[in-house]
Amino acid sequence: MSKKILIINTGGTLSAVMKKNGLIPGLSIHDMQKELQMVSGDTDIEIEDFCSLDSANIFPEDWSALARRISDCRNDYDGIVVIHGTDTLAYTSSMLSFMLRNIGIPVVITGSQLSITDPVADAMENCRCAIHMAASQIPGVFVAFNRKVMLGCRASKVRSLSFDAFESINYPNIATISSLGMKIDTAAVPDRTGIFKLTDTYSDKVCMIKMFPGIHRNFIESIAELGYKGLYIEAYGIGGMPFVKHDFIGALEKLIKGGMTVVVGTQCRYEGTKMDVYETGKRAIEIGALEAHDMTGEAALTKLMWILGMTDDITEIRDYYSINIAGEMKL
Ligand code: ASP
Repeated sequence: MSKKILIINTGGTLSAVMKKNGLIPGLSIHDMQKELQMVSGDTDIEIEDFCSLDSANIFPEDWSALARRISDCRNDYDGIVVIHGTDTLAYTSSMLSFMLRNIGIPVVITGSQLSITDPVADAMENCRCAIHMAASQIPGVFVAFNRKVMLGCRASKVRSLSFDAFESINYPNIATISSLGMKIDTAAVPDRTGIFKLTDTYSDKVCMIKMFPGIHRNFIESIAELGYKGLYIEAYGIGGMPFVKHDFIGALEKLIKGGMTVVVGTQCRYEGTKMDVYETGKRAIEIGALEAHDMTGEAALTKLMWILGMTDDITEIRDYYSINIAGEMKL
């Protein structure tokens, strides 16, 4: 029996048309129906519009609403494809990995670097890959792009123009398409660790900063004054931060004592943190900062938003943050 797949459109370049102020996501899912049908193979597709936004305009409330929509209809389909702009796609795929933890069907997010109306676009190929992954019966949240499938919480946009725009960071691809067809690496698919539970809440009191030489401690002191509860820092190398000329780590200690959750990650794209090596990292661990390990920035940030949306309890926050929820972190 053919697999029943729902395709949900949120916008992005895949649906773009040129207007006088530049490219905008102007096609509805019905305008794209013919092309989607062409790449759907023997699956039985249904289509719907969720929104029509450049993904720069996607906000956390959209993640919640999308997670609810997927959760509500998950028993009616064998798989779900989400069409999304590429710019914030990895944030959405990371957050959906947490909000839809242990989902029993494949949810595959895709987009493209050129509009589906362009005869040389990557759009149809990416949709073909996404639809076939959605029909695979492998449960989880994934990203399909440029003939590969990545875990949703490991994907990151690494190129702004090329078709090969996404990579799976610190984790193998889940599937690749070659002349041998679609080859799924089943060993890379994370085990489902429990029953499905929708958690569509999040905290909007989370912010993210990137360390740079010259960063002033006043800057992070003001973060607490603005009422933030969580801070994700992209630190240097394996997780280093300054404390000699400007005691940035001392300023962080005050934030942590005041109840803020601070997570330290790295500016390096690959290999993650290892904060027990240098004094510049060890000190941060000693004052109670959490470590992002090998998570992507997108996963580290959305995981913090997701956890702070569920609890204010410091011990629970630390416990949740340090376990692997959806394959985002190797322990
Ligand atoms: N600006 C677009 C978006 O993220 C880029 C894309 O889809 O490739 O919506």
